[in-house]
Amino acid sequence: MSQVQRVALVTGAARGIGRAIAVALAKPGLTIYINDVANWDEAAYTCSLVEANGAQAHLLPFDVTHSPSVEQAFAQIADDPGRLDILVNNAGITRDNLIARMKEEQWEQVLAVNLKGAFNCIRAAVRLMLKQRYGRIINISSVVAVMGNAGQVNYAASKAGLIGLTKSVARELASRHITVNAVAPGFITTEMTENLPEKTKAELLAQIPLHRFGTPEEVAQAVAFLASDHAAYITGQVLHVNGGMLMP
Ligand code: NAP
Repeated sequence: MSQVQRVALVTGAARGIGRAIAVALAKPGLTIYINDVANWDEAAYTCSLVEANGAQAHLLPFDVTHSPSVEQAFAQIADDPGRLDILVNNAGITRDNLIARMKEEQWEQVLAVNLKGAFNCIRAAVRLMLKQRYGRIINISSVVAVMGNAGQVNYAASKAGLIGLTKSVARELASRHITVNAVAPGFITTEMTENLPEKTKAELLAQIPLHRFGTPEEVAQAVAFLASDHAAYITGQVLHVNGGMLMP
């Protein structure tokens, strides 16, 4: 594989953890597709950071929930460069509410982006990876998938679903040298968490042995490891990056 230009796709890479993942993966010899649904300026900035690290970057806008758009985007990759080595399913949203007040729409939106979005991308990516007999798929789950979290039944269910998806696809694809793993971040400082009330942040910090929130870069390094050849014998696993908040 050393002569081949490798290709990666990171969904939801306009900001936060997705951007940090794209930057951590970036190195000469790698082409990275930067996906986002609407945030073009920020996604373009991610591309510039990736290029500064010596990789090639291309914007690939699509909505992970919309299967025809996903199929179209992957058809573009299949056409040229004709391969995909690394897929990181990072796109995710929250629509928090207590179960009694949760609207059906909040449930459906979160499941659509966080779980169906990953399914759509994996199904499309696998066609290329099977032909290559090589691939790395990394799904971004969450500590709440395992712990549960009041006010996040939709989000926790979607992230727990991702773990089942990860393990099942890992079993299906192992014989083709395609590894499938999940990274489960704890509380990480991004736009997703910055609007939490101060009281909630203080309560969360009290549960974290390392007594701080993580950084997007710390999650990204775990993803970069699983995407690397050093992780060739790791599949179907959940790598927790949570400051000790959960020790499963
Ligand atoms: P973020 O700052 O809100 O970024 C999420 C990214 O996903 C954005 O770029 C967003 O695009 C994109 N996105 C949303 N819906 C999409 C869709 N339908 N199609 C394509 N892209 C879409 O979130 P983050 O904190 O970096 O989180 C990244 C991942 O880590 C998520 O899966 C999240 O659940 C997970 N996670 C985060 C934490 C945390 O503490 N932050 C903890 C555990 C797990 P736009 O910019 O266009 O909206």
